[in-house]
Amino acid sequence: MTHVIAIDGPSGSGKSSTSRGVASTLGYAYLDTGAMYRAMTWAMLQRGVDVHDAEAVASASAEVVLASGTDPQHPTIEADGVDVSEPIRGDEVTGAVSPVATVPEVRRQLVDLQRKLIAEAVGGIVVEGRDIGTVVAPDASLKVYLVADPVARARRRALELGVEDAEAMREALARRDAIDSNRKTAPLAQAEDAIVVDGTDMTLDEVIDRIVALAQR
Ligand code: C5P
Repeated sequence: MTHVIAIDGPSGSGKSSTSRGVASTLGYAYLDTGAMYRAMTWAMLQRGVDVHDAEAVASASAEVVLASGTDPQHPTIEADGVDVSEPIRGDEVTGAVSPVATVPEVRRQLVDLQRKLIAEAVGGIVVEGRDIGTVVAPDASLKVYLVADPVARARRRALELGVEDAEAMREALARRDAIDSNRKTAPLAQAEDAIVVDGTDMTLDEVIDRIVALAQR
């Protein structure tokens, strides 16, 4: 059976760098489910769909074909055959992704694809997102809920993106967390059997080591 490590948590808690590091250390595959919701959002914007119109998103999303590469050294994401790894990190997609991710039809389609990719992984896979431990892979062998102080998260994310206004960044992250936590379908939530790791006062390597140690227990 595939060894699945689920890493969930709010925006900007360091899930991506941590998950890639854990996967590389253990020789596992890596799946960034946030990139899939972002790619779907890119495809909606590309088609001129109003992302706040859930019905329009639901019907347009059925036509979109996504493909995710699961190499932690070189993760890839395509929508309709186009490499979207850069545009999905831009402000336009970041500002529109949470409404798209509330649409149940979108979640159903992406969760099916995520489960297929997990089933295909040989050995093990690290899967990061918001609902991995609760919905996508409730039988995961290790569930981590990664958190960090909101001010520290905003400061780090602002630094990564070269943004000067860390306070505006904190507000943007809080807005995204609020939508993600309050939606009806598969909200951001800590699974009952998840282990909370607070990365606020830890370096990236320390967080990775901590999770690798938990996985090897
Ligand atoms: O992790 P990342 O910030 O790239 O995720 C972007 C957005 O995708 C989140 O804010 C959330 O709305 C959505 N998402 C989700 N479920 C997941 C992963 C991401 O709803 N498993």
